[in-house]
This record gives sequence, structure tokens and C-alpha cells, in this order.
Amino acid sequence: MLPPPKRVNVLGIPVDCVDMARTLDQVRALASGNRAGCILAVNPEKVIAAQSEPVLRRALESAALLIPDGIGVVWAVRLLWKEHIARVPGAELMPAICAASAAEGYRLFLFGASEEVNAQAVAELQRQHPGIGIVGRHHGYVNEAGMAAVIDAINRSGANVLFVALGSPKQELWMEKYLPQLPGIRVCQGVGGTFDVIAGRVRRAPLAVRRVNLEWFYRLLTQPQRALRQAAIPRFAWQVVRAWLARPSQPAPGANGG
Ligand code: UDP
Repeated sequence: MLPPPKRVNVLGIPVDCVDMARTLDQVRALASGNRAGCILAVNPEKVIAAQSEPVLRRALESAALLIPDGIGVVWAVRLLWKEHIARVPGAELMPAICAASAAEGYRLFLFGASEEVNAQAVAELQRQHPGIGIVGRHHGYVNEAGMAAVIDAINRSGANVLFVALGSPKQELWMEKYLPQLPGIRVCQGVGGTFDVIAGRVRRAPLAVRRVNLEWFYRLLTQPQRALRQAAIPRFAWQVVRAWLARPSQPAPGANGG
């Protein structure tokens, strides 16, 4: 059995010390397990939100895998814990799971986004990955009364991997409530706006911008409606610096500790 990755906490929120390769190994292990595991993305906005939203915090704490989605979280782990960790954007993990679908036998269900975006994302994935096992899909604009039909559709599809694209914290709360009713699901990833990216409706930052870790800045410029959420980034940075300054002092080299 694959041992779980080391889990550390950043400002009270857990994060797993993984990179993309280790994450995909964990996905494979979850898929062959005997119960559902949630994969949630941790970024500075979510860490700050979870401080005042106990339900989001609880969802994060009970996840099987917490990927370091934002560069701020990666830097915080390196600074506070000196652990090896690399950014695993949720928007890259989902396509990587899709690419592995045929070889690993993943049966995928895409739940979330508008009907048009959802259908387009499925078509695009099928175009990019011939042989991909997409066994079902449903848009994400469903009220409570309509949810039973969605649950039924997922169960009847035979899916073992479910992508939930409802935005945060909606998708985390959805998973906590409905996963117990989905006995066939082994891997459930909260993917936010990833279907919009795959469908070509939202563009990720150009590679050069991602390479210098400025994707968050690109999103701020191109999606100014997110400015309020991104106001959490300086708060996060300040709290990390305070946690670093307040860390217990290390024994001086050579001190024998009495
Ligand atoms: N969405 C949905 N149902 C809802 C609310 C939102 O399916 O009731 C979808 C929306 O269409 C979009 C995604 O959820 O595709 C949210 O994307 P966003 O980039 O806001 O995700 P986040 O940044 O919160 O991860």
C-alpha cells in the first residue's frame, strides 16, 4: 500500500507535501481503494476563508488529498516546514487524471459549470484523449430538489472518478453532503473553474507568466471581479510572516540541549 504523503499545516489548514508525480500516484492508490477520497485544492484564498468558515475547514480537514494549488501555499510550506513540495494546480491535475484515464481504467463523471461549458469540456477532453472513459456528465445549476436525479445519474453511470466544478466553497460543501450517497466513487476532485478553462472560455495565464509564479496576478488583471477574493493574498502573506517570526527558536548548532 502506498504510504500517504506528509501532511503539514499552514495557518491551521492542512496541506500535503506532494508534487504532480506523487499526486498521481496517490490518485491511483485512491482509485483502487475501497472508499471515496476527496482531493481538494489549497490556496491562500481558501486558507483565509477557512479561518472564518468552519464548514470549509472541516471539509479540508477530512480530505484524502490536499494539493498545494497556489504558489503562496508552496512558499509558506517551504518557509515554515522546509519540506519538499511543488505546486500542483487543480487545473492541471484534472487534465492529468483525464490523460491517464484510458491506461488506468478511470471512469470519469463531470459535474458542474453551465450546460454549454460542461458539454464543451467533455467534447474537448474526448478530442484530446481518444479512449478517455467519460461515462457521464451534468451541469452544475441544480437546486436541492433536482439533486436526487444528479446523484442517481452518477450512480447509474458506473463512474469511479468524479470532478465537481461548482466553485469554492460550494463544491467542498456539496462533496461533504453527497459523497456518502455515491458508493461507486473512489476519487472526487473539486476543480473550481477548470471546466471553463478546458472548454476554452477562460484562459489560464501564458506559460511564461506561470513559470515566474505570477498566475495569481494575471487572474487579478483578467478577472477583476475576483479582486475581493484575492484581497486574501496579502493577508495570507502577512500571517505567514508572523507565523515564521513566532516559530520556536532552533537550538544553536553544537548545543547539546542539556
Ligand atoms: N458553478 C456551478 N453551479 C453553481 C455555481 C457555480 O456549476 O451553482 C460553476 C461555474 O459555472 C464555474 C465554476 O462553478 O464553472 C466556478 O468557477 P470559479 O473559477 O469561480 O471557481 P473557484 O475559483 O471558486 O475554484
